[in-house]
Amino acid sequence: MKLPEAFLRRMKERLGEDFPAFLASYEAPPHKGIRVNTLKISAEEFIRRAPFPLGERIGDDPACVYVGEEKPGADPYHFAGLYYVQEPSAMKVGELAAACNKGRVLDLCAAPGGKTTHIAAQMAGEGILVANEVNYTRAKILSQNVERMGIANCAVVSAKPDTLAARFPSYFDLVLVDAPCSGEGMFKKEENAIPEWSEENVARCAARQRGILDDAAQTVAGGGRLLYSTCTFAEEEDEWQIEDFLKRHPGFSLVEMRKLYPHTFRGEGHFCALLQRENGETLRKKPFPVQKNTQAERAFCAFAEDFFSAPPAGEITTLADGRMYLVPAGMPELTGASLLRVGVELGEWDGRVFRPAHALAMAYGGRARRKLSLSREGAKKYLRGETAEADLENGWCAVCVEEFPLGMGKCVDGVVKNHLPKGLRMIKT
Ligand code: SAM
Repeated sequence: MKLPEAFLRRMKERLGEDFPAFLASYEAPPHKGIRVNTLKISAEEFIRRAPFPLGERIGDDPACVYVGEEKPGADPYHFAGLYYVQEPSAMKVGELAAACNKGRVLDLCAAPGGKTTHIAAQMAGEGILVANEVNYTRAKILSQNVERMGIANCAVVSAKPDTLAARFPSYFDLVLVDAPCSGEGMFKKEENAIPEWSEENVARCAARQRGILDDAAQTVAGGGRLLYSTCTFAEEEDEWQIEDFLKRHPGFSLVEMRKLYPHTFRGEGHFCALLQRENGETLRKKPFPVQKNTQAERAFCAFAEDFFSAPPAGEITTLADGRMYLVPAGMPELTGASLLRVGVELGEWDGRVFRPAHALAMAYGGRARRKLSLSREGAKKYLRGETAEADLENGWCAVCVEEFPLGMGKCVDGVVKNHLPKGLRMIKT
C-alpha cells in the first residue's frame, strides 16, 4: 500500500516516537467487527449460536466482537438483522452515545447506518430517532438497514443540515454528527481513499464540517448533547475543529474526547468528541401529521388479527400512494425533508387488497401466528427467491431462519410463495 508522502510527513510530526508503530499497523489486515442487534437477540444468545468463529469482545459491550470471517454479511443471520458489520473503532462512538441517547435523537450524517443502528439498539424502542442522510441514494441504503434491524422508533429522512437546523431549533436531546471527512482511517479498508487524500482536501473537509457543526448546534435542546466523530487523524478535522467550535459556541462545553489510532487500538482509527449545551430552551414541535384512511386501517386490522398473536398497536398513517406506516409515539412533523420511512411500514392498500410489507416481518414477524421456520440451508434458498414446502394453513406467514424472521411468504396448499423483495435477495452463497 503506497501512502501519500504528505500524509506520512504529517503523521510523523504528530506521533513522534510512536510513528514506527503507526506505520507498522498498515502491515496487518484490517480489523473486522460485528455488533449484535440486541433488538432481536441478546449478545449471550448470539454468541452461543454464532455461525462463524468470534474473536474477543470490543470494549465493555458484550454485543461488540471481533470477527475473522471473510464475508460476515452473507450469512442468513445477517439478513435476519441479528448483527451489523462495523469497523471496531466506529463502535466507540456508540459507546459515548450510550449515556445520552434518551428522548429525541438526531443522527445528522447517518448513511449507511452503523451508528444509527447502534444507537437504536441502545434506545431499545424508547424515544424517537431521526436518521438523516443528505445523499438520497445513500439514504435508501440507510433505510434498508433500519428496516433489516427491525427498528420501530426511527424516521429516515434526506435533507441538508441547514434545512434541519431551520426546522428543528433547540429540539434534540442528542445530535450525532459523524462527519464526512478525509478518511485517513479508511486507507486499509478502502484503498480508493488513498488517491483522494490531499492537504487541500483536508482543508475542504474541515470547512464543510464547520458548517455542518454550526447547523447541528442549532438543533440541540438546552442541556442536550452534541456528539461529533470522524474516521480521520487530521487535527484540522478533529481536535482543532472542536476547539474552534467551542470558541464560536460558548454555550457548549467539552464532556469527553477520544482519539483512536490503529497502533493504540485494534481498529482502523476514529475521533470522537462529546459536547454539552449548558442551558437554553427546549422547543416543541407539532406531532407527525397522521393521515387517516378508515378503509385501509380496517383492512390492516383484519390482516393483523389473523396474522399476529399480539398485533402491534399505535397510530397508522396512510400515504397517498396507499403505503401504511405505524408512526412511533412522539415523532414530530418532518416537513421540509424527503421522508423515506417513518416507524414501521405495515403494507400497502390498493383500495381492494392489503399486502403486508417486508418491514412488518422484520420488526414484528416474531409475533406471527403462522411461521415457517427454516434451517440455515433452507433460509439460503428462501433468500435466493425460491419457494418452500410447509405444513401450514393457507395465508400469509413469516418466513424465518430458525425463529428469526427473514421476510414474508404466502402459503397456498402446502407451498410458501416467496415475497422477499427482489432487491434484497441473496445473489451468491
Ligand atoms: N454515520 C454513518 C455510519 O455510521 O454508517 C457514516 C457517515 S459518513 C462518515 C458521512 C456521511 O455524510 C456520508 O453518508 C455523506 O453522504 C454525508 N455527507 C456528505 N456531505 C455532507 C454534507 N455537506 N452535509 C451532511 N452530510 C454530508
